[in-house]
Amino acid sequence: MLLKVENLQAEIDEKQILNGLNIEVNPGEVHAIMGPNGAGKSTLANVLSGRDEYEVTAGTIDFDGEDLLELDAEERARKGIFLAFQYPVEIPGVSNKLFMQTALNAVREERGLPALDMFDFDEFAKDKIDLLDMRADLLERSVNVGFSGGEKKRNDIFQMALLEPKLCILDETDSGLDIDALRVVANGVNALRSPDRSFIVVTHYQRLLDYIKPDHVHVLYNGQIVKSGGFELVHELEEHGYDDIIQQHHKD
Ligand code: ADP
Ligand code: MG
Ligand code: MG
Repeated sequence: MLLKVENLQAEIDEKQILNGLNIEVNPGEVHAIMGPNGAGKSTLANVLSGRDEYEVTAGTIDFDGEDLLELDAEERARKGIFLAFQYPVEIPGVSNKLFMQTALNAVREERGLPALDMFDFDEFAKDKIDLLDMRADLLERSVNVGFSGGEKKRNDIFQMALLEPKLCILDETDSGLDIDALRVVANGVNALRSPDRSFIVVTHYQRLLDYIKPDHVHVLYNGQIVKSGGFELVHELEEHGYDDIIQQHHKD
């Protein structure tokens, strides 16, 4: 088991959002999390990655044999948790290349690997660029400055590829995902899938899941996972929406 979340309860601004959430993720699995707006999907992603605005009030999170709740966000990142699409910080004057080399070396240090100098980093980055079928010129620009929506997405997936995380958490923003961005995300996830890497993909785009074909699909509602299934659940939701599941949940 890579990740085991039990009875997770969390609040923000003294408002309880997660109400006893359970999920287990094995190495190599892709889990999709769907659910209506306001259900707590982003809260889950943020709590897992350790953003400190959120307070965990009960429950446990075991990640790779460690108590995740003991670690801050930076430590979690170094241990192999990557949260995509959440920090579109622009850093004028700092090349994307230097930024990513620094981030990668921090992670490598944690893993007991030697730092990569500029030359070795270029080689390493080039392999990832080829793997993802991306353009190398992203690296020469200032971090996120003037990036289009699609470029930001591309850059995030590229960063995810470089850091070789054990758990990738993708929290799709509520704003529109055009077909180009959708392909970038789906191709990225598919290219990076491996037996020792797991994904939690938060999305309301059935289309994205059609490309990714997750192993497990969960419906999050009112801070709990109220239904889990396989890929077929995506199409069940497409046909019937969340109402049946929510009504059934209130009956149980
Ligand atoms: P989802 O990603 O499923 O749409 P969120 O996790 O973003 O849901 O939000 C869950 C609930 O938490 C919503 O009711 C939202 O209004 C509330 N919430 C999110 N962020 C904050 C915040 N900073 N302060 C207070 N309430 C918040
Ligand atoms: Mg939302
Ligand atoms: Mg959200």
